[in-house]
Amino acid sequence: MQTIEDYRKIVGDDIIYAIHKKASRLYGKSILHANSTQYGGGVAEILTSLLPLMNDVGLEADWRILRGTPDFFTITKKFHNALQGDPINFTDLKKQIYIQNNEDFSSYCRIDEDFVVIHDNQPLPLIRLEKKRQPWIWRCHVDFSNPNKELVDFLKDFILRYDLMIVSSEKYLNKEIPIDYKIIPPAIDPLTPKNKELPQEVISKYLKKSDIPTDKPIITQISRFDKWKDPEGVIDVFKLVKKEIDCRLILCGSMAIDDPEGPIILEKIRKKAQELIDKKDVILITSENNILVNILQRISSVIIQKSIKEGFGLTVTEALWKEKPVVGSDVGGIPLQIKDGENGFLLDPFDDKGFADRILQLLQDADLSKRFGEKSKKKVIDNFLITRLLIDYLDLFNNISP
Ligand code: UDP
Repeated sequence: MQTIEDYRKIVGDDIIYAIHKKASRLYGKSILHANSTQYGGGVAEILTSLLPLMNDVGLEADWRILRGTPDFFTITKKFHNALQGDPINFTDLKKQIYIQNNEDFSSYCRIDEDFVVIHDNQPLPLIRLEKKRQPWIWRCHVDFSNPNKELVDFLKDFILRYDLMIVSSEKYLNKEIPIDYKIIPPAIDPLTPKNKELPQEVISKYLKKSDIPTDKPIITQISRFDKWKDPEGVIDVFKLVKKEIDCRLILCGSMAIDDPEGPIILEKIRKKAQELIDKKDVILITSENNILVNILQRISSVIIQKSIKEGFGLTVTEALWKEKPVVGSDVGGIPLQIKDGENGFLLDPFDDKGFADRILQLLQDADLSKRFGEKSKKKVIDNFLITRLLIDYLDLFNNISP
């Protein structure tokens, strides 16, 4: 398990001292984080790293995972999409299952911590089902600026009870929800198996075991199989690139248990790219494996992130940390991380030709890729490491303290 000292070499003494100082006013305070999955997706990723560090600096942080039925997760995935503006067939039955699942959970879940942080929409109603004796914070990880109105009207019954809401970017503020906001971008942990440096023997062993050849340049998108990540569009872009340069595409997306759409989208991709899959020019990976994700990001010539909507895009941060050139959509948190032409390329998510041209440019210009990579690592160190996220949370708890 990492301790805060392990990060000194990366972020420097001043940051570590600042963390200890801010934590000292919170010694012994207990914090509960609740979400609905232990793996798959950015939230689980962050909590896995953040909570041990909170505990290491003297807080008492705990993580509870809301259990849900398949019906519940189907509904909350629809809510997740509608929070980002999708239409929804909003029935009383959906509301009932959503609340009932939370009621069931609440009947065997006692919350008596000093602070409660609820992540995303699944456990949102808990605030009305528990005795609220402490500050509750809603951490909304998606772009909430233009949600489906009917859904928000329903969710306001819970949201307005929260003391504060956290979003990843100023652009996500929603004026129709009159509660206090704090902007906190997510972050990555540079020392996890997903992000740390790996010896060449380990990389070779994994590639062999996973049957991934490296005889051609590799383009990779790491993302859940989700329509907002546009994996079908990635195949279209890849086909354009491949007409010019022989290369290989890897799509890696593990199946989060709170995301029932994954298998359906995966099947669509299989159909669309069957010929390329048979020739091993497109490789689909569905296992959950952090070291493999790390390796794929490191062996790729270009990382693509063709999201149509994006909360923040930790996959982009992970690639930037590994000094990889990223061609990404100009949506959500991606432009917070990439400045077009400076440390990567940004494009309209529907501009397939633009994506293909930029990928080709990077495949042909190793110097450009290297320049992007160097700037990217610095950007991540300055803005998007877990130590900065820890500081933001410590500041928040210090300021909201009753
Ligand atoms: N991820 C993973 N395996 C996969 C796909 C994704 O470990 O097959 C991880 C990825 O490395 C990143 C997180 O899940 O850490 C995705 O976070 P992001 O913010 O990019 O997207 P989200 O899934 O939260 O919308």
